[in-house]
Amino acid sequence: MAASDPYPAQQFASDNYAGICPEAWASMLEANQGHAPAYGNDLWTQRASDALRSLFETDCEVFFAFNGTAANSLALAALCQSYHSVICSSLSHVETDECGAPEFFSNGSKLLVASAPDGKLTPQAIRALACSRSDIHFPKPRVVTITQPTETGLVYSLEQTRAIAAVCRELGLKLHMDGSRFAHACATLGCAPADLTWRAGVDVLCFGGTKNGMAVGEAVVFFDRALAEDFDYRCKQAGQLASKMRFLSAPWVGLLASGAWLRHARHANACAARLAAQVRGLAGVELMFPVQANGVFLRAPVEVLQGLTAKGWGFYTFIGGGARFMFAWDADPVWVDALARDIRELASGVA
Ligand SMILES: *Cc1c(COP(=O)(O)O)cnc(C)c1O
Repeated sequence: MAASDPYPAQQFASDNYAGICPEAWASMLEANQGHAPAYGNDLWTQRASDALRSLFETDCEVFFAFNGTAANSLALAALCQSYHSVICSSLSHVETDECGAPEFFSNGSKLLVASAPDGKLTPQAIRALACSRSDIHFPKPRVVTITQPTETGLVYSLEQTRAIAAVCRELGLKLHMDGSRFAHACATLGCAPADLTWRAGVDVLCFGGTKNGMAVGEAVVFFDRALAEDFDYRCKQAGQLASKMRFLSAPWVGLLASGAWLRHARHANACAARLAAQVRGLAGVELMFPVQANGVFLRAPVEVLQGLTAKGWGFYTFIGGGARFMFAWDADPVWVDALARDIRELASGVA
């Protein structure tokens, strides 16, 4: 299909519209030789865990889950008793997109939501919530969760992450990171994964594989191994222990060994920047957030949004009513430019 065809062949409504990247696919194909022990007792799972330990330059404990909702919920549950609470941003996936799974899997740990118009938590907001009450009637704050990059496509700098971790340490809170697009944050900041996580004070990371080009799967990485006690039982009970685990773990080997995890994230980020550059300054069109990762959020007149829909472009408007465009490992600059052209044309018609 060519870019001149009437309907777009690529869609940027979600980075999960993309297929499986060649590196992940090749590893799955290679893992599909003969038999291997089940439930993670196989060589691929060993290799993937070792590859993650080597990427993070530490002896972390690693688990593989099917999706991000389960990874986040089970990680938070591991850090909490049911009477504890979890501080998060009002736009966080755990609050808005997990159907109550964090509360469900933790047997009732309450999310304490800090209002964050741009999606980011701040040390001040954490302190305010954590210190708002200290009596027995309030669920005891125990964990802070941040999303890196945020649901709004913003990246916490190294300094911001460290500042949040410092407040956590001071107040006796654990720090969890929802890294469903962690690779994209690494690509933006150009720093070592270890610097962005445990060296900055992160206790547990949910590292997204799906949005980085895998078919399915997230890695739950415990930098403090003591926190991972019995996590294997938690995964099994929640239906997250894959019997043919090698097909969840092998793609990590391919992605990490080839460096594709970072290359794909860089490409996705570059496509977001490419779209942003072409729509910046258009009459009535506004970037809702600075473009720092692989997402672009556009505020635009309703005629423009309806026009895009009529031209066949899909997008979500669940954050502040603007149009969200997400770019994956395979985003084709030809289609990015086609989208930009349509936005420009529609905006000029309105102006
Ligand atoms: C996509 C995403 C997840 C994972 O979602 P699942 O659909 O459960 O795999 C988690 N956190 C954020 C911020 C996400 O965007």
